[in-house]
Amino acid sequence: MKKPKYDVLATLGRTDIRTVEWAEEPAASSFKRGELHVHMNGAIPASTIREILEDEGTVLPEGFNFRRDMARLTPCSSLAEYLTPWKILRLFPKKRENLDRLSYSVFGSLAEYQVDFVELRSSLLYLATLQQCSPAQALERLIESTGEAAHHHGIRRGLILTVTRGEYGAVNLAKLLQAFEDLGRPKDVVGLDLAGDEEVSYPTELPSMFRDAKNRFGLGITIHAGETGRAENVRSAVEVFDADRIGHGTAAGKDPNLLELLADRGICVEVCPISNRLTGAVPPNEAHPIQEFRRHGVPFVICSDNPAIHQNGLAEDQAAAMAEGLSICEMQLQYGIAKKYSFIEELI
Ligand SMILES: [Zn+2]
Repeated sequence: MKKPKYDVLATLGRTDIRTVEWAEEPAASSFKRGELHVHMNGAIPASTIREILEDEGTVLPEGFNFRRDMARLTPCSSLAEYLTPWKILRLFPKKRENLDRLSYSVFGSLAEYQVDFVELRSSLLYLATLQQCSPAQALERLIESTGEAAHHHGIRRGLILTVTRGEYGAVNLAKLLQAFEDLGRPKDVVGLDLAGDEEVSYPTELPSMFRDAKNRFGLGITIHAGETGRAENVRSAVEVFDADRIGHGTAAGKDPNLLELLADRGICVEVCPISNRLTGAVPPNEAHPIQEFRRHGVPFVICSDNPAIHQNGLAEDQAAAMAEGLSICEMQLQYGIAKKYSFIEELI
């Protein structure tokens, strides 16, 4: 197993876990994995990013130091600091062939971690702007590019289209859904995601648009909620957006009523242990709410969020979950749990 650059286990004072438990179970680091929460642009190896920036003649923003700013390896003082690499990640790929290059690289990394199926999140409208094409053309390219790369690496994949919170949320979701309709509702697209700053409000019609898309097209709904301490966002994700899964949901750990709601409705929380420590969603002096999820019977899957930015992969996130108190047996059950809550239908 590769030694991660940011050793979350060491940070938590549990260096014994990887060395003892993984080592005692040689198969542990090689069992199959399912990944339900990973952002495509957070999964591109730095070497590929460099190649593409060079090929496209992209100039780095002033003051951006690639080596220092492209990875997040230690806990950040704010979410904004954690998001520094996105100053670069939103500047490419401008060329179609670089989307293919990027896709092969992302799926190559996933294959290294024995990822058997993945739901990959993408901000399609950025891609359309960069490639100077319509959202439908961008979606077609994304489907082809990721489809070929996934096939090449023997990975099953679904796409989740991400909408960002804020005043343009509804307009942008309408554009995404139009692109999806224009292409004949391709089954490569399996879900919708809401992401972005949780302090920012969204248009009042946005939740009903999510619900309609779920009812009309059968798309799964996952909402980034409760990452920045707002438990009420988790509740509205469930009650207003009709979410099937919650991204992060860390704030729910302190709200027994909310935990009960998640457990009763079988809403799965996508837990990203390394990301949660790096963003400060879980402060250094607090236990990860994963223990509360388990205690209250809230289903959860371990995910990696932005593995290339963390210079780690899903195996390290699973090791980090063990450092937070889960057992290796629970990690071995993760593949089946991810399958159960996946939006990719053919898996079941
Ligand atoms: Zn995320």
